[in-house]
Amino acid sequence: MNRGSGLRIGKILGIPIYLHSTWVFIFAAITYMIASQFKQEHPAWTDLQHWSVGVLTSLLFFASVLFHELGHSVVAQHYKIRVVSITLFLFGGLARIEREPPKAIQEFNIAIAGPLASGFLAGAFFGLTLLFPYSQSVGALATWLARINFTLAVFNLLPGFPLDGGRIFRAVVWGVTKNFDKATRVAGASGKLIAYAIIVFGAWSVFHGSVQGGLWTAFIGWFILNAAQESVAQVAVRETLTGLSAADVMSKEVPIVPGHITLEEYSAEVLRTGLRVHLVVNDDRFVGMMNVHTLNSIPREEWAHNSVQGVMIPREKILWTSPEEPLLRLLERLLSADVNQMPVVTGVSGGAPQIVGIVTRDSILRVMQTRSELGPLATSR
Ligand SMILES: [Zn+2]
Repeated sequence: MNRGSGLRIGKILGIPIYLHSTWVFIFAAITYMIASQFKQEHPAWTDLQHWSVGVLTSLLFFASVLFHELGHSVVAQHYKIRVVSITLFLFGGLARIEREPPKAIQEFNIAIAGPLASGFLAGAFFGLTLLFPYSQSVGALATWLARINFTLAVFNLLPGFPLDGGRIFRAVVWGVTKNFDKATRVAGASGKLIAYAIIVFGAWSVFHGSVQGGLWTAFIGWFILNAAQESVAQVAVRETLTGLSAADVMSKEVPIVPGHITLEEYSAEVLRTGLRVHLVVNDDRFVGMMNVHTLNSIPREEWAHNSVQGVMIPREKILWTSPEEPLLRLLERLLSADVNQMPVVTGVSGGAPQIVGIVTRDSILRVMQTRSELGPLATSR
């Protein structure tokens, strides 16, 4: 789900609220479910009553989900972590915060605020049912909302990532071990277990009468499974690149071509050597960088009439790295600038810059692959 996808419906506490397109389906399904339930349990009501109370209950349910997300958001804002948006979608709500909390205790408090908010609403709606008997519209509405908010609070406390309980679990492991990556892996693994259990339970329900509910349960389990795997994969990438810098993966071979040769001649050079990136020099002066990607952006019939220095990436537009730059940050820069390689330069501060190598995306990916194959060895510290 992308940032800001969906319809913006308003702003609360400075946080933009969005409705994702998938929300329409779940709203329709839940409204239908509630109305059907009221029809069964209150045959004396008119159809208009079934549907109007059903729609109102459904709307208040989504207001409850929003309240849950606002619970997380208020605590995050208290820690000066910006809440970028809240989105209501197929599986409920999602508060997107700008960065991970820097301390375990902050993650713990942000995570637990959601279930506490849902628990509070469950209590409030239960109070309403005492004031209005169940047979009345308000009583039926309040009973349904008290139950669903209670379920939301309990379900979200299951100790598996990405549920709130998984975050709470991660915060505890993080606080105890002081190791964020390890905590994420543990909470992710527990999230996978819980997801499988939910899927199995959903499948069991399908064969024991409740086809719709069972499929829906299995679907939720599948969603949790994906999210748990994603969070573990992110940690894996971070771990494989930890401790490495540009110098570790750079190619020390820095091929050079003169700027005056034609693209035709350049392509011959690429074919001959198999090297895909070159520094361009004119009279021993470094003027730019040329690569296959840039070559391919020029129509083939123009290759004979264009020189390398006419189409190369000029020196001032090249992004540089230093041998000491951590590989993880370098990879992020490569991806965000959408470039494939960066020359490695030493002595910039000393006044005598010198190109000592080139780092390419491919070389970083190769290291990641090799390291992940040796993973069990590398992590048995
Ligand atoms: Zn939550």
